[in-house]
Amino acid sequence: MPTYEFRCRACGQTFTESRPMAESGEPAACPQGHDDTVKLLAVAGAGISVGEPNSGSSGGGCCGGGCCA
Ligand SMILES: [Zn+2]
Repeated sequence: MPTYEFRCRACGQTFTESRPMAESGEPAACPQGHDDTVKLLAVAGAGISVGEPNSGSSGGGCCGGGCCA
């Protein structure tokens, strides 16, 4: 589920909400309860594995290729 960042125009606080893409345009209330908010952006990478460079399971490392066995 994508995460969207919002900013409250009443108190200036930024906050994020995870919601279905179909509801991305719905208004969001800030944690303080204000509903005068604007959507800033969709936070990329939330819920998406970006991978780890040294995970070793993708064949990139020495042991990943079995050469250490
Ligand atoms: Zn607020």
